[in-house]
Amino acid sequence: MKICRTYHKEEYGLNEVEIQKLPKVELHCHLDGSVGLELLKTLAVEQGREDLALEEIAIVGENVSLTDYLKSFDLILPLLQISSALTRAIVDVARQASLDSVKYLEIRFAPRLHLHGELTLTEVIEAVVKGALEAEEKYDLKVNLLICGMKHHTVAQNEEVLETVIALNHDSIVGFDMAGDESNFPVAIFKKWLDKIQALDYPLTLHAGECGCAHNVIEAMSAGASRIGHGVAIINDPEVLATVKEQAVLLEMCPISNIQTGAVNGWNNYPIRQFLDEGVKCCINTDNRTVSNTNLTKEYLELYSRFNLSRNDFLTLNLNGIESAFMPDKLKEIYTLDFKETYLEKNSMNQ
Ligand SMILES: [Zn+2]
Repeated sequence: MKICRTYHKEEYGLNEVEIQKLPKVELHCHLDGSVGLELLKTLAVEQGREDLALEEIAIVGENVSLTDYLKSFDLILPLLQISSALTRAIVDVARQASLDSVKYLEIRFAPRLHLHGELTLTEVIEAVVKGALEAEEKYDLKVNLLICGMKHHTVAQNEEVLETVIALNHDSIVGFDMAGDESNFPVAIFKKWLDKIQALDYPLTLHAGECGCAHNVIEAMSAGASRIGHGVAIINDPEVLATVKEQAVLLEMCPISNIQTGAVNGWNNYPIRQFLDEGVKCCINTDNRTVSNTNLTKEYLELYSRFNLSRNDFLTLNLNGIESAFMPDKLKEIYTLDFKETYLEKNSMNQ
């Protein structure tokens, strides 16, 4: 791999530091799975939970079942049941993203997963919003929030989350997602909930196509998703791939997580090059920075060294992200101009 990276350095002038400095957008980042280990350890001491085996959070190896992957969250969530911990958690995730030169970040969280202490839904959401605003003051990036409904929760429970978001009416909350077990809970169960969200003009991104089933992506699109979390399974279904491409739905790809969970069987089968060549709209994300033991620079480096991705490819991926981000058009124009200028300026300097 070292030889490969040297080759690229000469060819495109990209090295790790340059990749780290490239401005980036990240649209698929879970709050709980991305809280840094150091902060988790501090919270464990403060909350008298030194019993939690925090060293076991980071996933090692490939093809871990999604169920095992999700077990890491059982070690994290007990520490995120008080307001101050939630606020510090999101500031910490934004800090990590700023180290990757992320300029626009959407962080998602499922409010109901933080109701195991004494917090109400309102308090959970307020704590996270507070952290998002603090992070924007502290770091050079915009932080927006996505609310996750959970597939293993009832329609009524998810409904309650939506009602709370409506009542709070925070500008930082810009969209909704459905996360959780994709195999056993078809998105159709939540149609009424999803319809209501869209009637309120909130855009949707839905997890789908992570467990090998391309059809779930079509189902998610039919339910109104303009973006798909992961979606990598479409590589095995030309018909679905054509539909995704035609409707310009964005796939929020999370390479390292996808390899770990076996959503894609090994790096040789990772479809990033095919998606780029065929014009499938996609962007690169971390999913869970701590659980997947990753960051966005690391994700880019993997793709750079394994698939010959160039500076222009990374620009395309980021412009895709900006175009499908849940932010106003005016802001998209500003980010587009800024990113083009930075990426292309450096290109011409290297010629
Ligand atoms: Zn996810």
